[in-house]
Amino acid sequence: MKIKPPQTTSVISLNFDCMLQGKEFINKVYFDYLIDFDWIDPHRAQFYRCSNPIPLIKLNGSLDQGICENCGRLHLYYPFRYRTFYKNKACTKQQCGGRVTPFIVIPHGKYGEKINSLWNVAKNHLKEADKVTVIGYSFPEYDKDVIKLFQDSLNTNVRIEVVDKCRDNQKKEQTEYFRKRYRGLFPDIKQSIENHNTGRI
Ligand SMILES: [Zn+2]
Repeated sequence: MKIKPPQTTSVISLNFDCMLQGKEFINKVYFDYLIDFDWIDPHRAQFYRCSNPIPLIKLNGSLDQGICENCGRLHLYYPFRYRTFYKNKACTKQQCGGRVTPFIVIPHGKYGEKINSLWNVAKNHLKEADKVTVIGYSFPEYDKDVIKLFQDSLNTNVRIEVVDKCRDNQKKEQTEYFRKRYRGLFPDIKQSIENHNTGRI
């Protein structure tokens, strides 16, 4: 198997949490959100985007990203976090005094403008992809924007690999289900869908 260098791989995530980012130190795999932050916590800056970062496109925002409700300034914080982190969190811009809340977008709410450019970035990465691995996500009907993003972006020669949890006795059914579902969603894709049902639930 040919291993690609990290910069040719991108991760698109719909999760708000920081599971991946919290492990940057341990795994020495670093991420780049592809967002222009107005302020980065110095503790975060020490490892954010360092050495060959992998684009991590979080289409619904992220808990470690805070936005000022007053001036829209985007802050990037350290990913390890306690529940009261955003309590009394103030904007870092002098004389703003705005309240900073998590930059989370469900879907395309009031921060639509800020997140839309990231959706376009995702589109470009998907258009260039020769292989897309979908992990633990099944394009539910209500995620119309995500479905449209993939339908509009994927080229017809792309290889799609689906990785999901499955009970041992349901592997066959699940494989069939995914094949049918992906055929319905992406009828123009020429390659067959690779399916890996792993682990127990
Ligand atoms: Zn502000």
